[in-house]
Amino acid sequence: MTRFISTPSRTKEILQTYGLKARKGFGQNFLVDPIIVERCALAAHCENAVIEIGPGIGGLTEQLARHSKHVTAYEVDADLIPVLHDTLAAYDNVEIILQDFLTCDLEGKIQELREKYGSVSVCANLPYYITTPVLFRLFEHGEIPYITVMVQKEVGDRFAAKPKDSEYSALSVEAAYLYDVKKLFTVPGRSFNPSPNVDSVIIQFTRKEVEKDIAEIRAFFELVRACFKQRRKTLYNNLREYLQDVDKARAVLEACGLPLTMRAQEADVDQLVSVFEELQK
Ligand code: SAM
Repeated sequence: MTRFISTPSRTKEILQTYGLKARKGFGQNFLVDPIIVERCALAAHCENAVIEIGPGIGGLTEQLARHSKHVTAYEVDADLIPVLHDTLAAYDNVEIILQDFLTCDLEGKIQELREKYGSVSVCANLPYYITTPVLFRLFEHGEIPYITVMVQKEVGDRFAAKPKDSEYSALSVEAAYLYDVKKLFTVPGRSFNPSPNVDSVIIQFTRKEVEKDIAEIRAFFELVRACFKQRRKTLYNNLREYLQDVDKARAVLEACGLPLTMRAQEADVDQLVSVFEELQK
């Protein structure tokens, strides 16, 4: 009988065999619950090609390989590459790339996979220390129809956050603009080796129809990030700094009917879109 990589005993064995210790600096927490791992892969719409960020020792990669035509996995820890070649030796549809995901040619890879396999989704148990930049990157590249990621619970909360909530951020706005966001299920800390003190959640982003093209989306996101740059400052002050133009910042907010005392954290997606569109005029 197959003993999957993500069973607690097999993971322990692999770590011992290769003398590995989970590296905190790389956000390494290996999933040791085969039921959760398979559930995650099955939910990920990964039947054609799927990109994984941080395969670790291959627990999730294995389930993705079982359910998709092709898996491309980016791993930054060079010590894990020979391990992955061993643990995933039975799967000939997995491409492991030793690279920091934040610097890879994501658009090029998505285009290549789309041409070969039809569609590309993303599925990952994200390293917690780069969750936000990874998601920012995924949001502004390549129109990915489904992104299914495991993140710490507090990050997951940001996607349910509404204007005025303390968790409401540029990430919440970007996600809500491009995607329907759904929490699939909670994953307790004990499902990882080593176990973190916090629970995680699996979040799925399903792409919406958006009228703007990718260049406009990027420009909108740049504006959103600038508006949230200094959270304590008003929208007006952040905008003024971004535009380097006091009068324009004031005129744009007035044209949108937004008070100069408002903070970005109080603005909903439509209000931020109206600021963007006013600036385009
Ligand atoms: N997928 C495995 C699992 O679920 O058991 C491991 C997940 S672990 C939370 C995060 C993984 O991301 C680690 O393998 C870590 O080395 C890798 N990682 C960290 N930073 C990365 C980066 N910038 N680019 C690619 N992988 C990275």
